Amino acid sequence: GLSPPKMKILESPLTIGELFNVVVIGGGSLGCQTLYHLCKLGMTNVVLLERDRLTAGTTWHTAGLLWQLRPSDTEVELLAHTRNVISSELEEETDLETGWIQNGGLFIASNKQRLDEYKRLMSLGKAYGIESYVLSPAETKDLYPLMNVKDLYGTLYVPKDGTMDPAGTCTTLSRAATARGATVIENCPVTGIQVKVDDLGVKRVKEVETAHGTIQTPCVVNCAGVWATKLGEMAGVNVPLIAMHHAYVVTERIEGIQNMPNVRDHDASVYLRLQGDALSVGGYEHNPIFWNDVSLYTVHIYGLHWMRVFLLSLLVCFPPESFTADHKPLMGEAPEVRGFFLGCGFNSAGMMLGGGCGKELAHWINHGRPEKDMCGYDIRRFHHSLTNNNRWIRERSHESYAKNYSVVFPFDEPLASRNMRTDPFHQVLQEQGCVFQERHGWERPGWFNRGGPAPVLDYDYYGAYDVPKNTDYKYSEILGKEYTFDFPPHHDAIRDECLSCRNAVAVFDMSYFGKFYLTGPDAKKAADWLFTADVNKAPGSTVYTCMLNKRGGVESDLTVSRLEPSPAHHPLTPESNGKRHTSNQSFENSAMCDLCVDSRELLQEVLNSDLSNDAFPFSTHKIVNAAGHKVRAMRLSFVGEMGWELHIPKESCLPVYHAVMAAGAKYGICNAGYRAIDSLSIEKGMDLRPDDTPLEAGLAFTCKMKTSIPFLGRQALEAQKAEGLRRRIVCFTVDEKVPMFGLEAIFRNGVPVGHLRRSEFRFAIDKTIGYGYIRNPDGGVVSPDFVRSREFTLERMGVTYKATAHLKSPFDPENKHVKGIYG
Ligand SMILES: Cc1cc2nc3c(=O)[nH]c(=O)nc-3n(C[C@H](O)[C@H](O)[C@H](O)COP(=O)(O)OP(=O)(O)OC[C@H]3O[C@@H](n4cnc5c(N)ncnc54)[C@H](O)[C@@H]3O)c2cc1C
Repeated sequence: GLSPPKMKILESPLTIGELFNVVVIGGGSLGCQTLYHLCKLGMTNVVLLERDRLTAGTTWHTAGLLWQLRPSDTEVELLAHTRNVISSELEEETDLETGWIQNGGLFIASNKQRLDEYKRLMSLGKAYGIESYVLSPAETKDLYPLMNVKDLYGTLYVPKDGTMDPAGTCTTLSRAATARGATVIENCPVTGIQVKVDDLGVKRVKEVETAHGTIQTPCVVNCAGVWATKLGEMAGVNVPLIAMHHAYVVTERIEGIQNMPNVRDHDASVYLRLQGDALSVGGYEHNPIFWNDVSLYTVHIYGLHWMRVFLLSLLVCFPPESFTADHKPLMGEAPEVRGFFLGCGFNSAGMMLGGGCGKELAHWINHGRPEKDMCGYDIRRFHHSLTNNNRWIRERSHESYAKNYSVVFPFDEPLASRNMRTDPFHQVLQEQGCVFQERHGWERPGWFNRGGPAPVLDYDYYGAYDVPKNTDYKYSEILGKEYTFDFPPHHDAIRDECLSCRNAVAVFDMSYFGKFYLTGPDAKKAADWLFTADVNKAPGSTVYTCMLNKRGGVESDLTVSRLEPSPAHHPLTPESNGKRHTSNQSFENSAMCDLCVDSRELLQEVLNSDLSNDAFPFSTHKIVNAAGHKVRAMRLSFVGEMGWELHIPKESCLPVYHAVMAAGAKYGICNAGYRAIDSLSIEKGMDLRPDDTPLEAGLAFTCKMKTSIPFLGRQALEAQKAEGLRRRIVCFTVDEKVPMFGLEAIFRNGVPVGHLRRSEFRFAIDKTIGYGYIRNPDGGVVSPDFVRSREFTLERMGVTYKATAHLKSPFDPENKHVKGIYG
């Protein structure tokens, strides 16, 4: 470690015009962790500005509970890093204690679903080496004699969970950072952030104004907690979070509670934390108090009926905490201003996520991207039409708060602020029973309900704040039935959509897919560099490819279609003004995707083009006439069947759809949604994230390694190829009819080697199919033989199932169907 650190916390004014590489704003959990991790990456000309004292914001009030298990693999890894930093790394480095107490954690289940969720967490924990036990009420009583276990269903006990001390953690972090050369300035409020516009018209951070002087810097990190929105405004950046009062109660001294683990009773929406000889009790209610609207205030004594231990409330606090639209933090570089990073919106988990997120943020700043898959936290996940929409932020953040402790079921959807972005098919599909899913504010078809339309209604705040609760709300009732880890009741409806696609015809509205034009004199050069595949084919061709980052990770997989020059102002071709640019065409052209075995005969009745294999082969496209409307037809398939994707200008969408449906009636055409797409596409097999390379993902065929054309990520792939794969995607099928959803642990000869990333039921063979990246426990190469030579099992909710491992998708491995070869 380093020599004992000297405090270098300044309170003196800054030298005017001082220059720092990074300015971190806010001295709470996130600010201190980010500063420390920047230093660990060698960035030491960095300063943290805190307007008051370190921890003066929400961090001061934190319960500091650290639970290692969450229903997300990335989050489990982020938590593991925080735990490592505060339980050992910092102490080794500074010789100071952070105040970490490993008193264990206990989750309480009051019903079957909740216990099922805990069992899922336990199985995931095995893949990560996290010790945990699902206990019966009697076993729980042995562990924790004070607990009244009569109405318990069971518990999840994680012995190495524990409690963080906010002051100890932040002080130690700042000492370690200052010892490495960073500067920490308290009592130094940021009052302004200046932005400049560079020669290319891009806005960039220029300087930070404080009460004590100005700092020149190209980079600020907004770790200002609930005040982050205000800091964003200073630079013209939208920070879509809402501050809510999150209350807790501190009890009087209670005899016999020493050595108690932290307790979370999700169903009663409360947590308990040992605070000396007393307890600190906090919770989440359906009508939280918005920071900016105190008139809605009501007193909540939620959870006190809980009374598993005797509570005498002494002190009730209502500190603020920020909540976001999807209950995930806001991180990464703001799209509005270069050099303006966010590290805020932590939805009551900013202590335990602080270490992992601080590390990722530091990496993001230093290397331009995080190490892990942080897409779910990246501020760019929200479209700009949402981030400046107050109703959306308020309603969705309210729902995040209200559902803070809800079971995370595989198929949940929000009820708040829906129908923000709809496509031209929305109304007509809704009338046919479409149950929509929401993604990034966009409504896309989930599946089709045989019981008629189930529209999403205006948000009713779950009846809070005297808002009348929606009655006879079919969508909400359907959603309620999804709240299971078993097969949902409409499993059969989704099966019929899938089988119709495999055996007859199905039509999918895939307007949700992004569509971009890349134009200009250097478009070819850009395409060569950006795409792994050689897309330099004749106009009319379509190529499946990946786009990588520098480390060879897959940022996106997509199809690239080379367009023929065509007349100006054509809605299906881009206008090129001689300059290179990309334009997002998602709103201009909707896409309807029509896929399936009999689609050729059907579409032949609608399109004025020869659709035979010779005239219109797989992986080609052309502009054709569909029922009197110009569309771009692409011979592609997302679900592994012969089919066409039709890109249709907005105003032509409905007439073309009706023509296809009318012609399809005699073929038994049906509407199908993304639930069917998920099940059908998994049969073609893959799961991709920015931390997977195409070689690991079985997509080496998309990489032009045999050519000498350089492309982004190529070097990393070459190095990986030479070294051999340390992880590799494997497909598993399970003979037993059992639902799996991802996060199940994978064992090779009884030794954990990974977890399922994605799993679906495969209706054509009535089996579960799943994909996971497996590693060699010895850290060695994962060769095909490593996969072939051993027995695999999958653990789902504590139960083990035999699984067959496949290196290639067992469904149509030679891709004959998409080429129109059946039988
Ligand atoms: C009662 C309660 C219990 C909780 N329990 C847990 C738990 O058990 N586990 C868990 O992981 N999380 C828990 N949380 C959540 C966790 O405490 C927060 O997510 C976390 O502390 C947020 O840290 P932060 O650094 O983002 O924000 P803050 O701690 O609020 O830090 C932001 C800082 O920015 C400073 N600032 C603001 N404006 C300026 C400015 N203009 N210039 C300079 N500085 C500025 C503020 O003074 C403040 O210090 C709990 C929260 C509450 C309220």
